[in-house]
Amino acid sequence: MRAITMIILHCSATRAGQCYTLEQCRRDHMRRGMQDIGYHYYVTRDGTVHTGRALSQAGAHCRGHNKYSIGVCFEGGLDAMGEAADTRTGAQRKSLRTLLTRLHEQFPDAIILGHRDLSPDTDGNGRITPNEWLKQCPCFDALLDYEDLEPVGLFG
Ligand SMILES: [Zn+2]
Repeated sequence: MRAITMIILHCSATRAGQCYTLEQCRRDHMRRGMQDIGYHYYVTRDGTVHTGRALSQAGAHCRGHNKYSIGVCFEGGLDAMGEAADTRTGAQRKSLRTLLTRLHEQFPDAIILGHRDLSPDTDGNGRITPNEWLKQCPCFDALLDYEDLEPVGLFG
């Protein structure tokens, strides 16, 4: 198994009521030249956790951070107007928590964070603030939502 230091959360950037299946996601990624879907897990609106790449393989979901991370994506992330929004359904929240709890047990030293939290710290103050986000993905505060699943000592 690879060393895992991060579990990075993504959204599919599709609208709240829009269907975007694992197979569509895989096809779109392969059209962009990837060998397979870029994520390790894909959670659809009904709460189903689909398996993408094998955990033993590096994903293709966050440039510069794929080697040591696991990529988890949920279907959604935009509201009806196409604006960034936390569209996770109750079923998705439940499944994400179950999945992340299991991954936290398996990789207790891995930080759970959102794609946007890996944007460059342009003002160098040690925190990634909204004005520094390259994108909004995953459209919710993963560090806050899964604070109880973070490595011991992350927040002092
Ligand atoms: Zn992302």
